[in-house]
Amino acid sequence: MKPYFLYTGLLDLARELAGDEKIYLGTRPYAFHAGNAMTMVVYPLLLCQELKKLGKKPKFKFFVFINDWEQDKLTGPDVKTYPFNIFPLNTTFQYAINKEDPSQNIVDYWQSIIYSEIKKIQVQFPDVEVIPIRNSEMKTNPVMKRCVIYALGHPQEIAAILRKHTGKLTLEKPLSYVLTVCPECKTVKGTTEITADGSILHSCSNCEKHTKAPYDRFDYWFYHKPLAVPRLEICDIDLCITGFDHFDEGDYLIRQDLIKLLGSKAKFPKTLYTPTLLGKNGEIMGKSKGNAESISISILIKTVIENKDAEKISFPVS
Ligand SMILES: [Zn+2]
Repeated sequence: MKPYFLYTGLLDLARELAGDEKIYLGTRPYAFHAGNAMTMVVYPLLLCQELKKLGKKPKFKFFVFINDWEQDKLTGPDVKTYPFNIFPLNTTFQYAINKEDPSQNIVDYWQSIIYSEIKKIQVQFPDVEVIPIRNSEMKTNPVMKRCVIYALGHPQEIAAILRKHTGKLTLEKPLSYVLTVCPECKTVKGTTEITADGSILHSCSNCEKHTKAPYDRFDYWFYHKPLAVPRLEICDIDLCITGFDHFDEGDYLIRQDLIKLLGSKAKFPKTLYTPTLLGKNGEIMGKSKGNAESISISILIKTVIENKDAEKISFPVS
């Protein structure tokens, strides 16, 4: 197990893979711009093309993890200085309002767009499968439940791993990587604890309601770094394809340590890091940065071929 970088990494993987591996693609139900397409359509498509050149038939299963347990916006005492003392500003995507179309659930809305974009891989490679999975669908899976409960009770241990591989500082409080959604007001505000009898106790600072109930009765916010572990285990993932910025954040080593900490049977997956696409203003492309654009897949592929091992790719001028 080792990281694979950019186009050279993709060529190495094409030689090593059989073509039937289970592949992890992850995103938030919030946007789908050219930067997302780079990681979730262009690189998977190029990987399939390289396999085919080697006489192998791509039959990958692409699991598209839709993180409806992610915060609408991250906040904390000082997110830049203490990036691991964080919590949702309001709630999770599962309960967030869809600004694009308030009549439609935000997760349904974006999942259908994301799925139809990634399914374009099947035009050239009809034997690959594209399988969208929401986090909330995995809630009652025993692996997910075990990881959520462990993470809820052991934030210090998780923070120690995050510190070790990033050199960032953490404050003593607030330090939570799992919080429940308030069953009453649907915000993620207040405190979440496990009681001696194994129930979850939520005290809401928004509506003042206190709720004590079994695990299954709540929905959750679960910080995305430990959250990756139960996904890897549940879907028996062989390869992750993700953006280079995650490697820069230390995620490769963090993930290995979190797999061990959570006592997971997940494989340490191979990981392919894809280039960061810059927007027109030269900053990393992102909806929250206000520079998200759509670019056709054929132009993105041409741009990748022209910038094979560049970590950052400038906005293509067509
Ligand atoms: Zn509440």
